[in-house]
Amino acid sequence: MHAPNATTPSAALAGTPLARAGAGLDLCVHCGFCLQACPTYLALDDENDSPRGRLVLMRGLLQGDLQLTDESVTTHFDRCLGCRGCETACPSGVPYGTLIEATRATLAQRRPLPAVARFLLRVFRHPRLLTLALAVARAARWTGVPALLARLPRDVSFPFAMLESTRGRDAKPSYAPAAVAEGPRVALLTGCVMEGLCATTNRATERVLAHNGYQLVDAPGQRCCGALHAHAGDVPAAQELARANIAAFERSGADFVVTNAAGCGSILKEYEHLLADDPAWRERAKGIAARSRDVSELLAARGPRRGGPVHATVAWDAPCHLQHAQRVVQPPLAVLGAIPGLRVVPLVDSDQCCGSAGIYNLVEPDTSHRVLDTKLARIDASGADLVVSSNPGCLMQLGAGLLSGGHRARAVHLVDLLDASYAAEAGPHAT
Ligand code: SF4
Ligand code: SF4
Repeated sequence: MHAPNATTPSAALAGTPLARAGAGLDLCVHCGFCLQACPTYLALDDENDSPRGRLVLMRGLLQGDLQLTDESVTTHFDRCLGCRGCETACPSGVPYGTLIEATRATLAQRRPLPAVARFLLRVFRHPRLLTLALAVARAARWTGVPALLARLPRDVSFPFAMLESTRGRDAKPSYAPAAVAEGPRVALLTGCVMEGLCATTNRATERVLAHNGYQLVDAPGQRCCGALHAHAGDVPAAQELARANIAAFERSGADFVVTNAAGCGSILKEYEHLLADDPAWRERAKGIAARSRDVSELLAARGPRRGGPVHATVAWDAPCHLQHAQRVVQPPLAVLGAIPGLRVVPLVDSDQCCGSAGIYNLVEPDTSHRVLDTKLARIDASGADLVVSSNPGCLMQLGAGLLSGGHRARAVHLVDLLDASYAAEAGPHAT
């Protein structure tokens, strides 16, 4: 490892997103504290697949020593989960998340994304295509075929196991939220996958918020949050989606925009950064970012209200984009603390990625599964019946891994657990 020099972009990269973000590279002192926080380094045992190694590769690109067309270089950026575990481990404040997104945006200007990624990003960008795709997925889930296919070897079965893992959140509401006369008005970012495949969790989110004194308001016209596009380097698409959402949430008049999907919440809070170069939208983006909250933050701000007993042994697995990107750590634990009867057990490396990372598990399945296997072994060792998280990608990844591997534990959304607790408090005959 060579000592860092001041980063001066080569002529070939001048004006690119990487050149604009390049000053962040100079903060790296090559101490290596980030290595043990990096799931791909731990899984692949290659310095080039570590944060420190990738920063060196970025510098090489920027200075013209390495080429964007060299696949032996770019593959190490493709293998990055974007989990930002390295960012919270770094004592020097290297803005790794900004740097990897800038690198990917620069790469996207010079080479096409993989066909699978292009297809998925296109679907998520176009509301009609997305509605159709999610309807087909729900219909497929209803037939029971994915449950059968989930038993095949993991290489072929995993997408079916992910779909099957979204089943089972069909509990009917069995309590009436406390009446809210006044209280902060909140608009839910319904989310593509959450509303399309996990709508019961969205309804549970509305109930638990209402039960804690929040008034729900509609925000019609909202679209995909744009996180998948931003993380893949398709910045124009992410910006287009961000503008639509900012307008929708402004119209709603909500005091807070709330999400139950950590990845979506992370990009909402970064809309200001995403639209920093757009003078017409920068301030509006800043306003929405400042009002965005994870559901656990709003619940924790109200206590949250305690529920009835749920007897289970649970382990909290922090979504990376909640813990590392949003730096929200305590609120989910406060929510678990409001549920009597739970036995919360520690999960080793609960702050490390499960290998989901947006569409990573579909475009980099081998590395994703290696990272997942470590997580599944930790879950088994914890003795938990339920592994609790709060991001649809994580829940589908964990759920599919647990299902296809025949593990005892099941994955559940934090909000569904609190909702079950409120239902238990109300008793079996409440409506
Ligand atoms: S911990 Fe930070 S400063 Fe140290 S090598 Fe990693 S990125 Fe560089
Ligand atoms: S974002 Fe995650 S996978 Fe990528 S370098 Fe950092 S810790 Fe490793």
